[in-house]
Amino acid sequence: MIFNQKVSIITGASQGIGEAIARELGREGATVVLVDIQKEKLDEVAGRFQAEGIKAQPVMADVTNLHQVEAVVESAIKEFGRIDHLINNAGITRDSLLLRMKEEDWDLVLAVNLKGAFNFCRSVVKHMVTARSGRIVSISSVVGLMGNFGQANYAASKAGLIGFSKSLAREVAARGITVNCVAPGYVATPMTEKLSEEVKKAFLEIIPMKRFGLPEEIAKAVKFLCSDGAAYITGQVIGVNGGMYM
Ligand code: NAP
Repeated sequence: MIFNQKVSIITGASQGIGEAIARELGREGATVVLVDIQKEKLDEVAGRFQAEGIKAQPVMADVTNLHQVEAVVESAIKEFGRIDHLINNAGITRDSLLLRMKEEDWDLVLAVNLKGAFNFCRSVVKHMVTARSGRIVSISSVVGLMGNFGQANYAASKAGLIGFSKSLAREVAARGITVNCVAPGYVATPMTEKLSEEVKKAFLEIIPMKRFGLPEEIAKAVKFLCSDGAAYITGQVIGVNGGMYM
């Protein structure tokens, strides 16, 4: 197990890609701190993990709230003494054409998807700097690279995560901390389940591999970026998208 004694914080960990990432890191021996916004869902996933032999600690917090985020990080440091991996995964969509987009839908998507990563990075990085090591992986999206009809707010947040990560990567590289993004294509999760059959069909047509991705396939890329094998990789965006964007 490659992450024995390590501690990982994963946001948006109670379902979909976040759950798969937490499971992947947990199976490698990491203690996984599961952050999400709904208590029941969190307790359920933590229970499943514990039954699988994964060391999991559920913590309810809203990633948009800096005070709550700082409290999560300080309590993890108090309890475990270290944070080795931060995975900024929590994300939402509020799709509509720009002309009809409500201001609150712009603000909320930017707050969760981009400010949430700022809040966690700002709280965690000081501990990683002291430890002179750490891995930060943020889940961007293929949409942040290519744009998407009806997703101006989401695409802006996901492109913003890339610029944010590259900047932070430069600031902390000399302290032994790497900062990267994984940009998934279309992955079958509760987030994409709600799309119409017509939209799903249109996506399949532009994916050269002719299938949707699995949450576990995103988790494998995150695991690699957290592993010793990725020690010299920083400021990068790894696309996991079946060839949808090259
Ligand atoms: P998902 O199934 O909707 O899971 C996201 C999780 O984040 C949910 O448990 C959600 O809780 C939680 N969350 C939402 N707002 C939060 C907040 N303010 N604080 C804490 N947690 C919050 O999404 P997913 O498909 O697994 O996506 C995970 C990440 O991958 C997202 O950043 C997404 O943008 C990105 N991504 C997904 C795809 C895809 O095709 N699925 C493609 C590219 C990128 P609630 O359910 O209670 O809201």
